[in-house]
Amino acid sequence: MSATTGTGLAGVELPGAALLSARGVRKSFGDQVVLHGVDLEVQRGQCVVLIGASGSGKSTLLRCLNLLEQVDDGVITLDGLDITDPTVDADAVRSRTGIVFQAYNLFPHLSVLDNVTLAPRRVHRVARAEAEARAMDMLRRVGLADKARARPDDLSGGQQQRVAIARAMVSSPQLLLLDEVTSALDPELVGEVLDLLRDLRDDGVTMVVSTHEMGFARDVADVVCFLEGGRILEHGTPQQVLGEPREARTRQFLSRLV
Ligand code: ADP
Ligand code: MG
Repeated sequence: MSATTGTGLAGVELPGAALLSARGVRKSFGDQVVLHGVDLEVQRGQCVVLIGASGSGKSTLLRCLNLLEQVDDGVITLDGLDITDPTVDADAVRSRTGIVFQAYNLFPHLSVLDNVTLAPRRVHRVARAEAEARAMDMLRRVGLADKARARPDDLSGGQQQRVAIARAMVSSPQLLLLDEVTSALDPELVGEVLDLLRDLRDDGVTMVVSTHEMGFARDVADVVCFLEGGRILEHGTPQQVLGEPREARTRQFLSRLV
């Protein structure tokens, strides 16, 4: 069983429809089917949170949404563009969908500022002065303007992750994908990153977030999707999915967390 948020007709793109729509997304690695036909809709400005045990397919789904993985079957549209069309410009799609991973993946030999300006300058051919102005705006937004000249190693893990988020946001993506961005952090650093995500969401940034932070899911998500074995087993408001789960497997997953 899969689940869909919203009420669009499958395969029909309506004006004002979801920003992101995934239909029947399938993905296998060798013999192992990792996504079994996932349907997902994300409306503009929504924060959709993916929860589920390790191995349930959260990262693979996120990677399919920005074409780091090619889907085997199904259709994903972003703002009306079929990004699963093989003729699509994958780099253009990736610049519209910022992604941040568990490990911050900053370049250690570059300053914070150069990490944030790298993609605008190299990929989008933005002039240095303009790229730096935009990067400084983003660094201010994540509260790290004073660290622009620092190296990643001089920053805490939480600060590095905020730089990684600034880097993903600097190209003004339509959709921000966040894959367990607090999982590698010391517990005392988790809050500052979650607070930043909360601010971005309040500013209307559309995001899909995989996380084990149920407090964040409860407070910030518009929609929570519970994945199990490559399927969205259940989705709904945080109150429904976390408070009154319909599926026994969701209850089991949640009870193991406490
Ligand atoms: P989650 O993020 O929920 O932990 P993943 O999407 O990382 O789940 O993984 C789902 C399944 O897909 C796991 O069994 C994992 O081992 C497998 N998998 C993920 N990426 C690859 C890959 N590149 N090659 C082979 N198997 C993979
Ligand atoms: Mg993962």
